Amino acid sequence: MSTERTFSIIKPNAVQKNVMGEIITRFESRGLRVSAARFTRLTREKAEGFYIEHKDRPFFQSLVHYMTSGPVLLMCLEGENAVALNREIMGATDPAKAAAGTIRKDFADNIEANAVHGSDSAKSAERELAYFFDKAELQKRF
Ligand code: ATP
Ligand code: MG
Repeated sequence: MSTERTFSIIKPNAVQKNVMGEIITRFESRGLRVSAARFTRLTREKAEGFYIEHKDRPFFQSLVHYMTSGPVLLMCLEGENAVALNREIMGATDPAKAAAGTIRKDFADNIEANAVHGSDSAKSAERELAYFFDKAELQKRF
């Protein structure tokens, strides 16, 4: 199988808990490699655009407020089967339903402040990576 790219965010509650290193270690220890990274705070406009598919959901404004409440680490992760592997390492959206040993089980506070984002398909990954990174910022790790 060929390598794949996916987009990851370490969200404000996980940054606040000071567990960025621990989360990156979980990715690296499963064979994913960081091929781009930026530590930043999202503007409201940027967060709204990122979550545009959820704009009619009741939690949209709250989600945007949370995602802009503090700094985040934006990353491109590269590896075999990166999209699905990242989702597996993250665990279910709702930490109450997340499997033992997943990032969300260990670091999410609730279904909104759930520690990490990961693209849900190769197509989403492509859109999300282009939304945050210039092509030249993506390093080859394989
Ligand atoms: P993400 O897109 O962040 O990787 P996901 O694909 O597991 O997570 P989505 O359904 O795409 O989940 O929802 C995007 C984000 O919106 C979730 O990660 C969470 O932060 C928030 N969210 C989802 N459902 C709810 C909800 N019912 N109440 C509050 N926030 C929610
Ligand atoms: Mg999603």
